[in-house]
Amino acid sequence: MPTYDDNNIFARILRKEIPNDTVLETEHTLVFRDIAPQAPVHVLVIPKGPYVSYDDFVLNASDAEILDFNRSVARVTQDLKVSLDSGEGFRAITNAGAHGVQEVPHFHLHILGGRPMGRMVE
Ligand code: 5GP
Repeated sequence: MPTYDDNNIFARILRKEIPNDTVLETEHTLVFRDIAPQAPVHVLVIPKGPYVSYDDFVLNASDAEILDFNRSVARVTQDLKVSLDSGEGFRAITNAGAHGVQEVPHFHLHILGGRPMGRMVE
């Protein structure tokens, strides 16, 4: 696993060195709006802990962090009205490493909704 870079942009957001548009904050998780939204709803769900990627998070985070993260995902899809209970659905995606074209090396799940996403072709 690559070493976690404490100076990545999401680490700086977590330290409140950079402002963000927070949608939800819990003990272990922060959800905020993407700065360059690709859909009417585009938020990023991040753990507060120093995890580089999805696999790093799932292998190394505590059960409490993982539960909190997953519950936060479900909660924002409800709050932002894109869940199947309250809206028309959403896409959840994470990019990891070079082939995933990950830009920010702090694990994040993109939640996109508010329009049909189209098929994934790449
Ligand atoms: P990745 O390619 O790593 O999966 O996506 C990184 C995402 O972070 C991009 O969608 C990009 O728009 C978003 N992003 C990059 N810098 C910032 C920032 O400073 N603030 C916020 N809110 N989003 C950012």
